[in-house]
Formats: sequence, C-alpha cells, structure tokens
Amino acid sequence: MKKRVKLLVPEASRNMHLPDVVVSADLKEVGTPTGGTRRCNLTGCTGTRIAVRWEDGQLTYPCTKGLDQTDPSKWRIIDHMTTEKRQFYQARYIPDFSIVRLPDGRIGWITGRTTTQGHALVHVDRNLAAQVKLSEQLELVKWGAQLAWDELERMEVEDV
Ligand SMILES: [Zn+2]
Repeated sequence: MKKRVKLLVPEASRNMHLPDVVVSADLKEVGTPTGGTRRCNLTGCTGTRIAVRWEDGQLTYPCTKGLDQTDPSKWRIIDHMTTEKRQFYQARYIPDFSIVRLPDGRIGWITGRTTTQGHALVHVDRNLAAQVKLSEQLELVKWGAQLAWDELERMEVEDV
C-alpha cells in the first residue's frame, strides 16, 4: 500500500526552526513567519525562503542566507541581492512562459520558440512583442515552472 504524500514544501525545511518575528533591514518593520517555507530560487543558493507576513498585509519570502539569525527569536534581513547571480541563456533553451530581460532592459515573457521559425517572441506589453533570434542570449529572470511553483506556494500559505 502506498502512502499519499503532499509534496509542496521541501522535506529538508519541513521542521526548520523559525523565529517569532523578522525585522526589516532598517529595523522599522516587523513581520511574522507564516510557517510556509521553500528552497531558495537563486542559482547556487542553498538557503530556504521563509514566508513572512508584514504589518501592511504583504507577504514576502526572504532567504535564510540573507537573514541575520544571531537572535534565534528575531531574525533581521540583511542584503541578499549582492549574492544574486544573473543567469543568461540562449533563447532556444528558455522554456515558454519564463520571464526574461531583453538586452535593452525591458522585461517580458517568452513564447513561440517552436512555432516561430528561428525566432522567439518576448511579450513586453499586452500589444507589443519583441522578436529575438533563438541564438540570442537573454537574461533569465524566472523560469516558467518557478512561477507555477510560486503560485502553488502562495495558495498553500493563504489556505492556512
Ligand atoms: Zn537564497
């Protein structure tokens, strides 16, 4: 007989210690961990993202590698962006519905790698798409699958 297992949260972080509160880098805002966790989505980062609900109702996911945990009950956000690695791939290797950055800085979602001969489309606006060569290097902002995962995580957190 097989057990049915819910696999929305990585096994390793299921029983991790969470603080009572998380404070912003400027110490002005206080948030509360909701209990939701997931692996960090930055390339090469082994940290865990913890879901934090702030006083204004916003939900964010700071990474444990970007948190000062000196006080086990009160973690403080420190700069994490400096450790973020930018990822570049040829357009042909980026799955549809991923979010990418064009060389001119505009951000959009990519489609059509298989339907448009030799080109992909990067939709930067409701009515505007840039045509890019499949061999062109684009900065990957978020994999399509990661967006779906984020949505699942958001739904799970809000269920509680
Ligand atoms: Zn991280």
